[in-house]
Amino acid sequence: MSAPQAIRTLDKDGEEITTVGFQRFGFDSEVPLDVLRALYLRSHYVVTAGEQSVSEVDARQESDHARFIQGNTAYQSKSIYHPDTQSISYTTLSRFPPVKLLPPSGRKRVLVTGGAGFVGSHLVDRLMLLGHEVTVLDNFFTGSKTTVSHWIGHPNFEMIRHDVVEPFMIECDQIYHLACPASPPHYQFNAVKTIKTSFMGTLNMLGLAKRTKARFLISSTSEVYGDPEVHPQHEDYWGHVNPIGPRACYDEGKRVAETLAYGFQRQDGVDIRVARIFNTYGPRMNPLDGRVVSNFIVQALRGQDMTVYGDGKQTRAFQYVHDLIDGLIALMNSNETRPVNIGNCDEFTIGEFAELVREIVEKVQDEDGVKPARRVQVIYSPMPTDDPQKRRPDTTRAKEVLGWQPRWTVRMGLEEMVRYYKAKMAEGSI
Ligand code: NAD
Ligand code: UDP
Repeated sequence: MSAPQAIRTLDKDGEEITTVGFQRFGFDSEVPLDVLRALYLRSHYVVTAGEQSVSEVDARQESDHARFIQGNTAYQSKSIYHPDTQSISYTTLSRFPPVKLLPPSGRKRVLVTGGAGFVGSHLVDRLMLLGHEVTVLDNFFTGSKTTVSHWIGHPNFEMIRHDVVEPFMIECDQIYHLACPASPPHYQFNAVKTIKTSFMGTLNMLGLAKRTKARFLISSTSEVYGDPEVHPQHEDYWGHVNPIGPRACYDEGKRVAETLAYGFQRQDGVDIRVARIFNTYGPRMNPLDGRVVSNFIVQALRGQDMTVYGDGKQTRAFQYVHDLIDGLIALMNSNETRPVNIGNCDEFTIGEFAELVREIVEKVQDEDGVKPARRVQVIYSPMPTDDPQKRRPDTTRAKEVLGWQPRWTVRMGLEEMVRYYKAKMAEGSI
């Protein structure tokens, strides 16, 4: 059998993307894309069907992914389902992915709160491949151990189940504070807990940064601008937030978390970084978390109609997760202490975005020879309260102070994410 043709990913300028990250501020964040992909585009459940042996099924699934990961299967563990005994056997990795060998002076002890979530797990992969010592702190409310399970047992990795609302002691050099549910249904599920996580969790982690003199980066959000009256949103805009609406637990929670960070900076000299993250998507996003990208892709792949809320004229700009991680690492290792927007400037109405997702799902299905019974339709349902009408970042500051701008086109990112969800559906884990 001939080797499957590798998928080529081109950036906004038509250059092939083979690595993500860069070398800047004396800090190297560059890692090979195919190794990263091997960590998230991996089969979990390999179903043994009928007379087929596990290895035959393995071979078929691997060839689906091989075009992306180019042979890096040694870094992938599997869970093999045996229908006859209704049991699962878990395989271990044959070896860990190679991590950079850093001199002790360059190796950081990095704490990632929320490291088992969507963004956190990609950050953990990157920091691990770069050779740092990484500790994940997570209560697994919306995250899952499976997102980082491929690092369990590695000498540079540690995972701790802990709620950031409770104090925590550790020695560390850098803290990426990401712990907080991010999708509207998740953060509205228990609004009081979301506020506690934002306020008490950030207070505890800033206290830790003060004691250890660790540099502290908080993952803030474009939601601090609320339903903005300024467009695009730049960092000096103070926002337009309803303090008592259903989104307030998150929006005001993040605003007070920023206030706390600057309080600790002024009073105690804590070395802070503030990233205002705009809508981000990518593999490992919880398919049921209710955010628009995961909803649309899963609906289209299942052949269900795609639900646009309101009239679909509200806008968002979507960035691929690898660009965000580049931005977070660049910010952490820069001297910029003002808030920095990190997001993609390609703005879509949600109605247009639904059409784009449908087109990409159809393209992937066509390439894979899948013929859906009917074309999925875009349907409209009521607009949630306080849903921002427009959102697009002004990223001038990120370009000027970090030399950062997104490389991934929305199209390329969506295509990779569609393939990820398709594989998850095939293995039965969605
Ligand atoms: P996510 O829900 O996938 O991840 C959040 C992680 O934090 C999960 O692993 C969850 O279990 C953990 N967590 C939640 N509450 C916790 C607590 N009290 N103690 C310990 N762990 C806790 O969300 P995400 O998309 O990965 O977002 C990560 C961070 O980035 C969040 O702070 C979010 O506000 C911010 N952000 C994300 C986006 C986006 O589009 N993804 C946009 C703006 C900001
Ligand atoms: N949205 C939608 N259909 C969905 C989910 C979301 O039309 O199935 C809309 C939502 O009303 C909002 C936009 O898509 O206008 C982005 O929603 P998301 O929850 O992803 O993030 P937000 O930017 O609102 O936090």
